[in-house]
Amino acid sequence: MDNDSRSGWSRQTFAVWSRAIRVRNLIGYDFAEGSVSRKLAHISYREAYPSLQILPRSRNWWARLKGAAPECIHLDENISWIAAVLPDTLYLRGKRANRREPVRPEVSLCFECLSDTFASELESFPGRVVAFEPDPAIFTQYFFVATTDFEAAGLAPETSAAINARLERSTETCRECSRGATWLWFSQEQIPSLDEVELISTAPGEVFCGKHGARKLLSAFEKFAEANIFYMNLPYGDAGTYVWI
Ligand SMILES: [Zn+2]
Ligand SMILES: [Zn+2]
Repeated sequence: MDNDSRSGWSRQTFAVWSRAIRVRNLIGYDFAEGSVSRKLAHISYREAYPSLQILPRSRNWWARLKGAAPECIHLDENISWIAAVLPDTLYLRGKRANRREPVRPEVSLCFECLSDTFASELESFPGRVVAFEPDPAIFTQYFFVATTDFEAAGLAPETSAAINARLERSTETCRECSRGATWLWFSQEQIPSLDEVELISTAPGEVFCGKHGARKLLSAFEKFAEANIFYMNLPYGDAGTYVWI
């Protein structure tokens, strides 16, 4: 079935789509920030992702001039799954905020490269996480917000309060192993949208340790036949939530 849906994704559609991504990258490039960011500890994509195979076309002079992000080698193919990852960056009402240093650059990845590059970091995050499965038909961004940034990131106060209450509940045991649970995962079935404040308070969810929580997230993402995620980041801080828009 996967193969069918992949072959159904025509080269022409991909060309339009990939152009849209590059345009987005161009728009997203903040020239003003470029001058400020020199003071921060930024690292090159080669240092940040040493084992990642980069598509040469995404690093040619034109791509660099546009400030476009490097892409994994597989994005040259007929592919229907792509995510732009800014691992250390959070958007606070549209402004980039760095939440870890050194700040790794944006990179566009297929699912396999996303998993190869970030799974172990995601699995070893020691903090508590409440994660919401996105609606694959409509989501464009999936990102982590630490509790300390809930307000600045624009999370609705009643949603923040409900998530905070879940983060503070006593720890259970991971449903896959004997470790203490740090993740609470809500499927689409349990909580279709973040507006469902009542459900955020009452839905049972599934509890996992850090490793199995991260694997649950990745396995949910792997099942999406198509994805065009404009922004993903990695967890930071002591506790927070993975939300989608
Ligand atoms: Zn790839
Ligand atoms: Zn576990």
